[in-house]
Amino acid sequence: MNLPRLRTAALLAPLLVAGAALGAPEETTITEIAPGVFFRKAQTEPVFTGCNQGFVVFRDHVLVIDANFPGQAENVIASIRERTDKPIKFVFDTHYHGDHADGNQQYVKLGATIVAQERSQPLFQTKGADGFDGAKKNRAAEYGALSYEVPSLYFSHKLVFDDGDQRVELLFLGHAHTAGDAVAWLPEHGILFTGDACVNGAFNYTGDSDTASWIAALGAMEDLGVKTLCPGHGEMGGPEVIANQKRWFTELRGAVKAAIGRGEGLDRIKETLDIPFYKEWTGLEATTRTENIEHVFKELSSPGKPLGQRRPHRHPHPHPHAGLSGGGR
Ligand SMILES: [Zn+2]
Repeated sequence: MNLPRLRTAALLAPLLVAGAALGAPEETTITEIAPGVFFRKAQTEPVFTGCNQGFVVFRDHVLVIDANFPGQAENVIASIRERTDKPIKFVFDTHYHGDHADGNQQYVKLGATIVAQERSQPLFQTKGADGFDGAKKNRAAEYGALSYEVPSLYFSHKLVFDDGDQRVELLFLGHAHTAGDAVAWLPEHGILFTGDACVNGAFNYTGDSDTASWIAALGAMEDLGVKTLCPGHGEMGGPEVIANQKRWFTELRGAVKAAIGRGEGLDRIKETLDIPFYKEWTGLEATTRTENIEHVFKELSSPGKPLGQRRPHRHPHPHPHAGLSGGGR
């Protein structure tokens, strides 16, 4: 890892974050994690500002990983401009959620092409569009002048950007956080940007997910041989971040399945769920994750078609990170 070049004073933070306590006030930081490869960790406490992002400086252009909210996108564009004059040609939306994709138009205005995995297309057109409309009312100052911009380039399993200096592989590893998640893999550096298919802390939203498939997708991430894991929310780390994320869903599914087997109903499970690992990982009790518990209960009570593939709700859930102050959608 190169010496981090940071926008803030948190010089040692990236070296310490792997097991960092969560919930403490944090800053937004930008770290150069390999030559020309930047990780922007968004502040989540005391105010949830948006998603983590990456940007990669190629020979003649810049690729941005996740658009973020519109206001955050402006900040990111300014941060990129502090480092390079090369045009931002591509923005990869890891998935359709507003805190990752609503800033698309800020980049399209600059001539960028928005890229995403093809199974996210129907989600962008339904739940994503609904969420954007809602945000135009609720966050008028930030969204008011913007129109909803969906990706114009979709890929199925793999899309590679390689100019001889930089190589970024966009990979579809299966239905995880949403049906159309994809990740950005930099094989030469062992760096993986995951979007919300892997987060570091109490940030999981499961409403669009298929948790059995998600666990498999996390296994596929482990198989890549990740050295540096850049999650969708929370601190950067190593492969242990994937292991923690996988363990949460594995233990949650196991506990809920066992409880259903004992004849327990959802209300009782929500009260009594006991997964000590979750508190070790996030600092919070597993029982606080009511949305996750309800979703897994539904999956295991009605096996068959993954819930995340069912007809989208007319009005999306409050964003994923509900419970965080200033949370998105
Ligand atoms: Zn998300």
